[in-house]
Amino acid sequence: MKVFKFGGASVKDAPAMRNVASIISRYNGQPLLVVVSALGKTTNALEDIARAFFDKQADVAAEKIDALEKQHQAIAAELVGGNHPVLNELRKLFTHLRQVPELYRTGTFDFLYDQVVCMGELFSTHILSAYMQHIGLPVQWMDARNVIKTDAAYREAKINWPETRERVHDAVKPLLLKHIIVITQGFIGSTSSNHSTTLGREGSDFTAAVFSNILHAQEQVIWKDVPGVLNANPALFPDAVKIDQLPYEEAVEMTYYGAQVIHPKTIKPLQNKNIPLHVRSFIDSQQPGTLIGNFPLPQDIPPIIVFKKNQVLLNFSTRDFSFMAEESLGRIIDGFARLRIKTNIMQNAAISMSVCIDHNETKLGELIPFLEPHFNIRLEPNVEMLTIRHYNEKIVHELTRNRNIIITQKTPDTIQFVMKG
Ligand code: ASP
Ligand code: MG
Repeated sequence: MKVFKFGGASVKDAPAMRNVASIISRYNGQPLLVVVSALGKTTNALEDIARAFFDKQADVAAEKIDALEKQHQAIAAELVGGNHPVLNELRKLFTHLRQVPELYRTGTFDFLYDQVVCMGELFSTHILSAYMQHIGLPVQWMDARNVIKTDAAYREAKINWPETRERVHDAVKPLLLKHIIVITQGFIGSTSSNHSTTLGREGSDFTAAVFSNILHAQEQVIWKDVPGVLNANPALFPDAVKIDQLPYEEAVEMTYYGAQVIHPKTIKPLQNKNIPLHVRSFIDSQQPGTLIGNFPLPQDIPPIIVFKKNQVLLNFSTRDFSFMAEESLGRIIDGFARLRIKTNIMQNAAISMSVCIDHNETKLGELIPFLEPHFNIRLEPNVEMLTIRHYNEKIVHELTRNRNIIITQKTPDTIQFVMKG
């Protein structure tokens, strides 16, 4: 069987949905599970709605929900006509969305966020599945929350693998055997008490990998608006080139440092079962794309360039001139681990340590009071991280000349810089 994943850009409007259905229809008759994201910028709009609910700005929320509902209804009507039952289904989902603040009066912002934001994928998959049925394809819509079981770490829920495995086998296998195309949502799951959770922004790639792993997919395809994995972001580097084949390790490295082509968590579940990941273009769906798998590093691999903006550089120095030894290092690392802050670069000297992290107001607000009793802390906001894999002198010169470099770190295959923004 195969697992496909279509992101928000691929289902942003009615023509885009038709294109997705046409790609899927070419695989009709083969066992296939399709994971879909919310339409275009819906998740961002839902984030605003969650914030408005939490801040008790009912008018702001209502206005934004009305706009989203109109947009979804219009796309559905364009695809399946104004009398199709899916329009009523959408109406029910939007009614539910409007009731979220009453249904969940207590709870943290993160909890409320997940109850709101999970709706985007439910809307998009209902529309796509109705349209595919309408054109005669054998499809079954499935609520991913019934199978993807997670812990209760809202907004970054972790998969409960044993539970998920069992449910995926029970729910999906019989459908695949009948060659029914399963359409489900990325990014969402539910706790053991059936509250909705989300797996972290852009998490649909990872959902697809969870299904691929459990179902022993023969391949996973991520359909994107780029021709495959490029050596740099084409929006910043018009000369970016496509890479035909990449080893898993290389894909993990690039996504870890911030390449946005696939979600960093996607590779592990695939690598663990030796499942190839194919990144292909939904715009030019005949093109071969990039294959990620158990390959050696291509001899002619170009330098891979990843910029990560919106970074904060933290510098910790011991208050009493004691060395940055096990105890102080341990304390700093403990702070990061407790708050689940990912460190992008770390560098330590005799009595100080520098750490570059993604900017996150809330987490910084908790980290600083935790470490301040022990360290002098300097904070440099608005820095940028540049990572070049397989670098050469020329590219390093090109990308760093006239830049104010604060930190450099170098291994034989990777060079990294923290620079003023
Ligand atoms: N819709 C979610 C997001 O935009 C998940 C995804 O697209 O992968 O973050
Ligand atoms: Mg999305």
